[in-house]
Amino acid sequence: VKPHSITIVGSGNFGSAIARLLGRNVLRSPKHFRSEVRMWVFEEELDDGRKLSDVINADHENVKYLPGIQLPTNVRAVPDLSDAVRNASIVVFVLPHQFLPGLLPRISSCLHRGAMAVSLVKGLDFDDEGPVLITDMIREGLGEDVSEVCVLMGANVADEMARDEFCEATLGCPDPEGAGAVLQQLFDCPTFRVEVTPDPIGVELCGALKNVVALAAGFCDGLDWGGNTKAAIIRRGLEEMRLFCKLLHPSVRDMTFFESCGVADLITTCYGGRNRKCAETFARAGGTMAWDEIEKEELGGQHLQGPQTTSKLHKVLEQKKWLSRFPLFRSVYQIAYQGRPPATLVQDL
Ligand code: NAD
Ligand code: 13P
Repeated sequence: VKPHSITIVGSGNFGSAIARLLGRNVLRSPKHFRSEVRMWVFEEELDDGRKLSDVINADHENVKYLPGIQLPTNVRAVPDLSDAVRNASIVVFVLPHQFLPGLLPRISSCLHRGAMAVSLVKGLDFDDEGPVLITDMIREGLGEDVSEVCVLMGANVADEMARDEFCEATLGCPDPEGAGAVLQQLFDCPTFRVEVTPDPIGVELCGALKNVVALAAGFCDGLDWGGNTKAAIIRRGLEEMRLFCKLLHPSVRDMTFFESCGVADLITTCYGGRNRKCAETFARAGGTMAWDEIEKEELGGQHLQGPQTTSKLHKVLEQKKWLSRFPLFRSVYQIAYQGRPPATLVQDL
């Protein structure tokens, strides 16, 4: 059996932290994985005129999205998407979800036939027929080029991971013994423990929905409310996440909410995430700033997933006539997009 060839599609804050992890992990299993890990970089010119991909390859640091952290020398930044994915047998998607649809047609047909895909993208889309999972988008975009599309989600704030602080993640995979075992071997290490579960839909929905609750937690911080209220928001948030998953996909397992992708990601995001931080700024400004303005000011080129997911989720709730059953999700939407005062966040709970 030939060793797998790994490509990471994305090179932002988390993309770079994952490149560091995978670059290191592949060297432990040369029989299973090729030593070079390709990382597709959306090319940009830095302030000093140099290209980001050149800097990553020369200095082994993503100075824009993960500054101060050394990347393994076997991670190679590739700015051309076709070159990056050509003949890859495992492709790891890790980029803000809004950029994915434009890339898929360019990836399709370049991959090794029967390649595995794994999505680390936290988000949700919506079309005329209803909600669209990111993995469905990948499956549809890549068609027969991929054999399996799995998800990896968890309490994984990139900067902490990049310092090798211990964390866990959940790999959702319909075939835990096959693709699940290969991907677990690729991602798992003593500071990043990966549990495999046969509930990919539950894992993915948890990763998307926790960003909506994170906005509520950020509003709470911006209003200077204390731990009791934030705990109530997290609890209600988890309850609405679970209800939404069950209504949409009754097969989602209760146990999934106790995995890293469930309660653990919800907690870390509501304390240490970027969605929380930007929502705090939004509430301090009285709900008057635009989200893209806050994102620009606070994140230096990184991207939020929470506001867009809140808006897509609201469309689903409206379409299914479920709004009255999700008072927290509904309030977050009204505050984020309809000028409702942040201080009314808990009014409907
Ligand atoms: P990020 O927020 O750092 O976003 C910046 C990335 O977007 C850069 O790689 C940039 O090149 C890219 N980009 C900008 N414009 C683009 C365009 N037009 N086309 C394509 N790419 C473009 O990204 P991230 O932190 O790596 O997040 C990726 C995914 O991982 C998200 O879904 C996020 O929710 C998830 N995630 C993030 C973290 C974290 O701590 N950062 C943790 C877990 C999961
Ligand atoms: P933010 O995108 O809000 O920073 O969340 C990061 C995350 O998903 C941690 O698991």
